[in-house]
Amino acid sequence: MQEAYGYEKDRFEQTCEKCGSLFSVSCPGQKGHEEREEYYCPVCSQEFTCRASNFPRVTLIKQGDKKWQK
Ligand SMILES: [Zn+2]
Repeated sequence: MQEAYGYEKDRFEQTCEKCGSLFSVSCPGQKGHEEREEYYCPVCSQEFTCRASNFPRVTLIKQGDKKWQK
């Protein structure tokens, strides 16, 4: 039996080193469909990657107060 729907493979909190914001990342998983997916800091758009089956969902928890430049 193959799973028809993905599941939440991983969920973690991350602090962006560029702007200092704290956000949570929810990585969807599906057997046999994992590749490198990009996700972005919701504040400064810094790019990160993880292994998942689809775009990770990012939720801002706390906006950082670090000065950053585009
Ligand atoms: Zn950031």
